[in-house]
Amino acid sequence: MSFSASASSKNDAESLRCSRILSSKLYLDIPTSKVPLVYSTTYNIAFLGMEKLHPFDSSKWGRICGFLIMDGALDNNCIVEPLEASKNDLLVVHSESYLNSLKNSAKVAAIIEVPPVAVLPNCLVQQKVLYPFRKQVGGTILAAKLAKERGWAINVGGGFHHCSGGRGGGFCAYADISLCIHFAFVRLNISRVMIIDLDAHQGNGHETDFANDSRVYILDMFNPEIYPFDYEARKYIDQKVEVVSGTTTNVYLKKLEEALEVSVNMFDPELLVYNAGTDILDGDPLGRLKISPDGIASRDEKVFRFARERNVPIVMLTSGGYMKSSARVIADSIINLSAKSLVDTSKP
Ligand SMILES: [Zn+2]
Repeated sequence: MSFSASASSKNDAESLRCSRILSSKLYLDIPTSKVPLVYSTTYNIAFLGMEKLHPFDSSKWGRICGFLIMDGALDNNCIVEPLEASKNDLLVVHSESYLNSLKNSAKVAAIIEVPPVAVLPNCLVQQKVLYPFRKQVGGTILAAKLAKERGWAINVGGGFHHCSGGRGGGFCAYADISLCIHFAFVRLNISRVMIIDLDAHQGNGHETDFANDSRVYILDMFNPEIYPFDYEARKYIDQKVEVVSGTTTNVYLKKLEEALEVSVNMFDPELLVYNAGTDILDGDPLGRLKISPDGIASRDEKVFRFARERNVPIVMLTSGGYMKSSARVIADSIINLSAKSLVDTSKP
């Protein structure tokens, strides 16, 4: 292909992407009577006891909101309900062939690491697994719009950072982070986005999708001794901070502070996407780090302070961390953010 032919097909792809984003229904108008906390009861995955086979609390999203409501930190009527990401929305980042591959239950089983799902009829897999994920994707995309309007937003789900446009894995079937950023480029008139990925695992999905894209700055702090060992994607991390197995709270928080300081001088973001996985918690069998529950609250506080002090809209996604204790820890951290006036989840 000649240079001009390749440039014009690139332009075609970009204009198709643009028109898909402009025709999307995900950017709902949200009244000011709502809090920019996005959640739907349909986020939760539970069927036939299958959820017990994965070392996951697959209803953590609902339990987070349950704790916030029970503690009086949130009114149920103030929660923002997103729409499901449609095929047209998903095609903004995903290839048609990747989306088609999800019509194969065995493929989905491999992505979510629950082998028995392979033998289920695909209609059931769509309804019980992929539909909840698509609602969470819709939530992440909408959360970016809300963050631009209100200064902050939290999607109680999302953060599927192992999925790229062409490949799923590690419980991540859709690339919600890449999607929300492309939507922000087109609909929010934003051209510089910082991803701060503090899940215990490397965020190889968004790293692959934004490889060499100077509009996106990626700070990834992860344990290099665990999944996904994606050395190709590591090349696209702008600031890589490795935290080995057994890293404790104080060491972790100090590394985070230093990393945030470095990023200030490297990039001036108009939107911050914060992937706030809690699999860094002490005792998490997958993350293998030793961060205390209070350490999680301090971590989230540091990132929110970083964004809010600079007037950078911040979107938080809950990402990995599916121990039974994770939901309580996340709820406590959101309550702490509210107490420190970094967010306000009380009735407007
Ligand atoms: Zn993780």
